[in-house]
Amino acid sequence: MEGKIFEYVERYGYEELVFCHDREAGLRAVIAIHDTTLGPAGGGTRRWVYKDEWDAIEDAMRLARGMTYKYAGAGLNLGGGKAVIMVDEYGQKSEAMYRSLGRFVNSLNGRFFTGEDVGTDATDLEYIGMETSYVVGIPDPRTGKTEPSPKTAFGVLQGMRACVEEVFGEESLRDKTVVIQGTGNVGQYLIEELLREGAKLIITDIDKGKVKKVLEKHRGIQAVEPEGVYSVGCDIFAPCALGAILNDETIPKLKCKIVSGAANNQLKGTEDGDLLHRRGILYAPDYIINAGGAVDDADTFEKGGYNAERAMKKVARIYDNVKKVISIAKRDGIPTYKAADVMVEERLDHIRRIKRIGKGW
Ligand code: NAD
Repeated sequence: MEGKIFEYVERYGYEELVFCHDREAGLRAVIAIHDTTLGPAGGGTRRWVYKDEWDAIEDAMRLARGMTYKYAGAGLNLGGGKAVIMVDEYGQKSEAMYRSLGRFVNSLNGRFFTGEDVGTDATDLEYIGMETSYVVGIPDPRTGKTEPSPKTAFGVLQGMRACVEEVFGEESLRDKTVVIQGTGNVGQYLIEELLREGAKLIITDIDKGKVKKVLEKHRGIQAVEPEGVYSVGCDIFAPCALGAILNDETIPKLKCKIVSGAANNQLKGTEDGDLLHRRGILYAPDYIINAGGAVDDADTFEKGGYNAERAMKKVARIYDNVKKVISIAKRDGIPTYKAADVMVEERLDHIRRIKRIGKGW
């Protein structure tokens, strides 16, 4: 992208890029606002050691666009944005750095709100929150707001049910075999959800301590080595670890009927979505099925503040969203990863049009 910001901005329809600089606080950050057709732009703050400034700008822009699709696909009236903080080493962070970012966020008067991402934790969010109310995802025992992972897992379960209904003709997960790759924050909650549903589980993680903990806590779960996970016979493969794990090496090995999990950017390239489609494996697009945490965080902006029951109802709609993606895929004869984009772009297009009605000047 180097030297071609406006070309990139034009191609993908970005609205705004904000450069934030505060030497005393050690802050060098970029806030990218992609599309506010549906509402204010939201996206977490990533703190990362970037190769160079272009790398950081491109990351902020790519992630902001991803948030437009995630919120629109979840049926929320929010747009996509992202903040990235450039640091020289991973440990570089401070109260001043995050409070300074908070002041920049505040200066956008609600056009952008932020939350957690890689490199930014709950304490950092509290610092941002000292300077602006445009921050989400701070756990609050008074309202029942927790960290997002349990809601992400609950959302993944709803999407899985929609896939199972499509493939097996009934939405129950009872006795279905699910392979879970990654037993971290989301994976551990997904295990609990699936056990409640009566599913049979096979797990893997590169962290042997985490696997041991799961096996000690729950009976009847099997574990496999991380390298062998793709060729395990099962009904559903649930990637809950890294991105790019669906590629030309792994897809031919898969012995499942459905891929539905929480990991971001599961397809290494779009051709891998086509490959899954040709193999007859139903893929639940990642940004549709893993939106639960983002939906939960965004509930903070409802009138009267966060309400756990209402947030849960909104997360449960991931079932309908995945069903809709599947029906568009069938309608247009396209793979589900493309159908998800079609669903989002249709919604954005319709709302853009209706916003012209009743406009006064
Ligand atoms: P996490 O870091 O807590 O857990 C990931 C787990 O995967 C870790 O236990 C890690 O040891 C394991 N792992 C890494 N590489 C592996 C490999 N090759 N094979 C097997 N296991 C491996 O992360 P998380 O918060 O649980 O998120 C999991 C995925 O879901 C990520 O891709 C994340 O971006 C995505 N996601 C998370 C949320 C959320 O609410 N936490 C929301 C949306 C998307």
